[in-house]
Amino acid sequence: MTTAWQNWSGSQQHQSLSLDYPATEQEVQALLLRAAENRRQVRAIGSAHSFVPFWTDDHLLSLDRLKGLVSHDVDARQVRVWAGTKLHELGEPLWDLGLAMPNMGDIDRQSIAGAVGTGTHGTGVGLQNLSTQVVGLRLACADGTLLDLDAANNSELLRAAQVSMGTLGVMTQLTLQLIPAYYLHERNWQASVAECAAARTSLMADNRHWEFFWDPQSDSCAMKTLNMTTEEDPAAAGKGETIGRSYQVLPSSRETRFNEIEFSVPAEAGWECFLAVRALLQSRYPEVRWPLEYRTLKADDLLLSSASGRDSVTISAHQGAKHPYRDFFAALEDVFCDFGGRPHWGKVHTRQAAGLAAVLPQFTRFQAIRQNLDPEGRFLNPFLRGVFGVA
Ligand SMILES: Cc1cc2nc3c(=O)[nH]c(=O)nc-3n(C[C@H](O)[C@H](O)[C@H](O)COP(=O)(O)OP(=O)(O)OC[C@H]3O[C@@H](n4cnc5c(N)ncnc54)[C@H](O)[C@@H]3O)c2cc1C
Repeated sequence: MTTAWQNWSGSQQHQSLSLDYPATEQEVQALLLRAAENRRQVRAIGSAHSFVPFWTDDHLLSLDRLKGLVSHDVDARQVRVWAGTKLHELGEPLWDLGLAMPNMGDIDRQSIAGAVGTGTHGTGVGLQNLSTQVVGLRLACADGTLLDLDAANNSELLRAAQVSMGTLGVMTQLTLQLIPAYYLHERNWQASVAECAAARTSLMADNRHWEFFWDPQSDSCAMKTLNMTTEEDPAAAGKGETIGRSYQVLPSSRETRFNEIEFSVPAEAGWECFLAVRALLQSRYPEVRWPLEYRTLKADDLLLSSASGRDSVTISAHQGAKHPYRDFFAALEDVFCDFGGRPHWGKVHTRQAAGLAAVLPQFTRFQAIRQNLDPEGRFLNPFLRGVFGVA
């Protein structure tokens, strides 16, 4: 069907594009073959919660009709899911199997393929991003073939596809490595920046999850920790606390629309980078009312992960969806880059191939894999051509 379309924040708008909702893998394959014949670009969408121009005026493909569990293996703690499944549709069926995702981000509205495809993450020094939870996936390639990837079968390609922004093909199914279902105890409190600075090392080490939101107007930090608990009764939670199932406690609801930038920096540079960003807001953007979010992320070995090969701190900034954000975010990007920052792929950034290759050790390897799998750039658009340096 031909339709007008926009992303969650409204920053990406298309007046007229064709949008298909395949209901089977065969329909995905047929759509890709037709696109190849007609020399059209194809971009997959999940929940359109990314802030960057991932999409195209040409042809979008939504997997909203390919959702739910395909199969499960409780002993191995693995499930196979359709790629269009939303995270909030996973929590309960997994719980019924006695399983849960090891970590989640701030919300659960994303599709599993979309969240995985951009390296979506939560917080916790011992916890990696959601893409690392994938131990196998099926990719519908530009020529319509289906490629099954797992650690025993094309393991490097799997590590490339796990964070690939739809540029290697359309994921149709993913196998997730899970852990036993667990309850979380969340604690929230306010701290000054000095108090946060003094406590951060122990908070990081002593809690499964620790993060804070710095409020530029009050110059104070909304601190948050979460830890596993055997307590199952929500009524046992004290003031400023929550107890519940992991998939209910981890995500929050975000009703007010915004645009967001986020970079990851080496863990040891995180605090210094935060202070530099805070100083920038205080000196040049005192009108900004949206908080900075400071989180930790464990290193992994995925080719394009923002934590590839290094333990990281991620810092994000926001601006209301109706407000201009480009100058503000450009100034932030300069600061992040001074600290060796790597962009969150789903959030606003202007990094191009040369700069990315300098901070992501496996970037050029990914470029070669992408070129080999999709030589005609069927899954690219102008924005992604810049990212991957494709003429
Ligand atoms: C309110 C809000 C809160 C957020 N919180 C966090 C957070 O806490 N942590 C964090 O890291 N990020 C966060 N994000 C960013 C968000 O998780 C990512 O942008 C994520 O990619 C969005 O998932 P989606 O399903 O909307 O995917 P989309 O934005 O629709 O797509 C993202 C990418 O995945 C590709 N893709 C989608 N489906 C497929 C498929 N089937 N096959 C191949 N490629 C596919 C798309 O082509 C695109 O390149 C947040 C965003 C918002 C708006």
